[in-house]
Amino acid sequence: MLFTCNWLSDVFPNVKGKMDGDKQIKTFFTDSRIVSEDALFIPIVGEKFDGHEFIMQALENGAIASLWDKSKQLPEGLPEDFLIFYVDDTTKALQHLASCYRDEVNPIVVGITGSNGKTTTKDIVAAIAKEEYKTHFTDGNFNNEFGLPFTILSMQRDTEMLVLEMGMSSFGEIELLSNIAKPDYAIITNIGESHIEYLGSREGIAKAKLEIVSGLKKHGKLIIDGDEALLSHVHQNENVVKVGFSEHNDFIISNIELLREKTSFTGSDGIAYTVSLLGSHNAKNAGFGIALGELIGIDKDKIQHALNSLTLTGMRLEMLTGKNGVAIINDAYNASPTSMMAAIQVVQKMNGFSNKVLVLGDIYELGADSKSLHETVADAVNESISYIYTVGEDSAVIGRAVKRKYPEMIVKHFSQKEEVLPELRQHLNQDTLILFKASRGMKLESIIEEIK
Ligand code: ATP
Ligand code: MG
Repeated sequence: MLFTCNWLSDVFPNVKGKMDGDKQIKTFFTDSRIVSEDALFIPIVGEKFDGHEFIMQALENGAIASLWDKSKQLPEGLPEDFLIFYVDDTTKALQHLASCYRDEVNPIVVGITGSNGKTTTKDIVAAIAKEEYKTHFTDGNFNNEFGLPFTILSMQRDTEMLVLEMGMSSFGEIELLSNIAKPDYAIITNIGESHIEYLGSREGIAKAKLEIVSGLKKHGKLIIDGDEALLSHVHQNENVVKVGFSEHNDFIISNIELLREKTSFTGSDGIAYTVSLLGSHNAKNAGFGIALGELIGIDKDKIQHALNSLTLTGMRLEMLTGKNGVAIINDAYNASPTSMMAAIQVVQKMNGFSNKVLVLGDIYELGADSKSLHETVADAVNESISYIYTVGEDSAVIGRAVKRKYPEMIVKHFSQKEEVLPELRQHLNQDTLILFKASRGMKLESIIEEIK
């Protein structure tokens, strides 16, 4: 059961219909095509559609009640015992409902934001929490003003831990999400460049991420990337836990080693950890999980067990074996300059390959500075790379900048991603490691399919 009609009428007192207060609402949906018995329908007004138009279909598919924008006309023919809860705005009502349900269930809540690494850290934190608590967490990437309330409303009543990813593209969004979720613990994974178009600068991005403290519980803890200078003004706060590579952090990560499908490191607790993900940034994401695990009282051996057996949402530094044994790193899920540099560093640190190839596509949404931000990616490249193929438009500047640094390196640009395939075919052997990285819109995975 989600809640009773009585409970719902406490949240939204303006009710129409013959009410059986003990009647249980088992689930909710916003898409009237979904069939579900004893459901609450939440009609959302979008740019191209208005959910209110589909209430009769929702009724047919199992809704027994609906939220309703009070400025809209109700259709004829609703049964007498179908409950209408009048609200000012159904999207805000969805968020308010989620917030009330969160308070009612009252689990320990963890909110995770950051430019990169939210989903990964969410999966890590959930895996660690699951060792001790009944844990509910964001499915996939459901991290916005709709996804977060959906996640909350789909938790079961006996949930003990709720792990929420919080995404944003402009100011005020994390504040909204944090005030709905009221986290006991908040994590800021890093400050990158994503959405700089809307936030003006990296300082702006840092400020927007720090909005996560607005809903944080009074004695709640904020876990941050302690290596990020733009967050240093909160370092002295007693409720801040700093995780990172430098000495001043509370949890320090050292001795990072990249193995074929995992990363090992030592924590400042003296324990050697292995995380079944690639890259030093993933050692840091694991560090956030360890710091949180300590705060919620999970044994170290259970934390280690969770880190060793992670399964993540695909295409994030996923190691694959392709034709003739060529090693492929599929990181085509998405990209920002920071995450592209992190992925390149992973390739450079991996042993056992005499030929390393980068296939880099465009990074979208970088605004007016797109070209110069692409150019910064070149700073991460060292001489251990043999070939760089860029595809798309702005990514071409990465290759040009690398070429200035390493004139010997083979660098080629293609405007169509398919044009890179004949080049890649000459690298299909066991000594080669190929990285694929670009923004989601480039869909580089279609190229990977061809050499897998
Ligand atoms: P989105 O905004 O798409 O939801 P996200 O913040 O959830 O992204 P992930 O999906 O976890 O991030 O990872 C995206 C990419 O960011 C990965 O491909 C990885 O290379 C990179 N990345 C992950 N963690 C970090 C980190 N701590 N610092 C820098 N880059 C990272
Ligand atoms: Mg994500």
